[in-house]
Amino acid sequence: MPLSFLTIIYLTAAVLFILSLGGLSSQESARRGNLYGVIGMGIAVIATLLHPDFHSFGLPLGSMAIGAVIGAVLAARVAMTAMPQLVALLHSFVGLAAVLVGISSYLAPGHEMEAAAKTVHFIEIWLGVAIGAITFTGSIVSWLKLGGKISGKPLLLPGRHMLNGLAALLILALIVPFMMMDGTGGVLSLLIMTVLASVLGIHLVMAIGGADMPVVVSLLNSYSGWAAAAAGFMLANDLLIVTGALVGSSGAILSYIMCKAMNRSILNVIFGGFGTGDSSAAPPPPTDGEVKEAVSTDCDEVADLLRDAKNIVLVPGYGMAVARAQHPVEQLTRMLRERGKTVRYAIHPVAGRLPGHMNVLLAEAGVPYDIVLEMDEINEDLPETDVVLVIGANDIVNPGAQTDPHSPIAGMPVLEVWKSGMVVVLKRSLRVGYAGVGNPLFYLENTRMLFGDARDSIEALVSALKE
Ligand code: NDP
Repeated sequence: MPLSFLTIIYLTAAVLFILSLGGLSSQESARRGNLYGVIGMGIAVIATLLHPDFHSFGLPLGSMAIGAVIGAVLAARVAMTAMPQLVALLHSFVGLAAVLVGISSYLAPGHEMEAAAKTVHFIEIWLGVAIGAITFTGSIVSWLKLGGKISGKPLLLPGRHMLNGLAALLILALIVPFMMMDGTGGVLSLLIMTVLASVLGIHLVMAIGGADMPVVVSLLNSYSGWAAAAAGFMLANDLLIVTGALVGSSGAILSYIMCKAMNRSILNVIFGGFGTGDSSAAPPPPTDGEVKEAVSTDCDEVADLLRDAKNIVLVPGYGMAVARAQHPVEQLTRMLRERGKTVRYAIHPVAGRLPGHMNVLLAEAGVPYDIVLEMDEINEDLPETDVVLVIGANDIVNPGAQTDPHSPIAGMPVLEVWKSGMVVVLKRSLRVGYAGVGNPLFYLENTRMLFGDARDSIEALVSALKE
């Protein structure tokens, strides 16, 4: 196929990717956005196979078939709660690919270039490998942390900022011997830099505490885009450059939005070490002197509360995803709305374990979009709300974020559910959430704890309301 025709096809794929991103920006158009992305990627893969430099199809088709089978099995089997780990793992593949493309493009024979072109090419390789290595190991660590395979607690080595600075300086300095060597003589510098960047990736993410992990996941998403763009430059592939830049910049915008939502500066997160994250730890007792007890309740009592309420707000959190309670929650919503109650959902930007996690679950269950509101839209209505049901959420409704300056989540905006008439918290115990901090909400006078699995509790509530 002539190269000019290929360029047009690549451009078409790039436009489809942009339409895809546009579609993914709202729930109503998300399916369409996904479809554009799939078509764009299909076109891109076919066009690449038709590239005039492609002479043998066995290896690419064989590896694509293996990848497709593994991908399909993983996608079909992964639980919604394990999605964040899967996303982190997928980011690591992009990073690893950029490292391998960089090293192999450096070692590839027969690249006779002019001095200026060679300098640019070597810088592309250096950047691609460095960003790729940081993305690869950083994503592996975030995969381990999100999956609970290692502790979410930040690893705070003494002088860690100095260590990071030193590693960054060495990564920059090693480019000098790399550029000065003829042929492939700079491979040792390249490999040493790869190891240094990999260690830097591990250290940067190890130092980040549980509460800041959402921003890290979206930052790594952004890095993986830039790594792909760098690979695009190395391979002189326009589509890869455009796609990488799209992922890189959208990831960066998402990181900015998440930082704003969590009231953190981006540098503060990258070099942070905030939040602790051992969700098995017991919560500290409330600290204002007297020991308060959390008041538990049962489904009949909560059903009565709901019968009497006019305004009801539901706050879903990670526990709703674990319990797969979204369908019974939708049934409860329908039932209450049929009885003339105003029912709305309050969605915190970092609820669950993925940006948009709760929106996806609620959309899957068929909850109408217009009653699903963002934190900023609903926070000021909470004082006029009769009952708030907190369904498997914890950190996002923790008043300690506003009252305890030493809390790892201090300053993070939260849903102010305690300002409502009555708060019912559905969870299995008084244990802490992802950030590893105790929640004073559980001990407030207008809070009732409905202990148990969220799905069981909601189903029992639906039955109680039917009676
Ligand atoms: P949390 O992790 O703070 O709390 C979830 C609660 O759900 C737990 O305290 C747990 O309590 C309860 N739970 C678990 N399983 C069940 C079940 N089967 N039935 C009922 N309850 C259950 O979740 P939030 O959504 O409130 O907050 C999200 C946290 O995750 C934030 O700290 C955020 O920073 C972090 N995070 C968010 C990411 C994102 O992109 N959204 C990514 C990475 C981290 P119990 O064990 O007592 O039942």
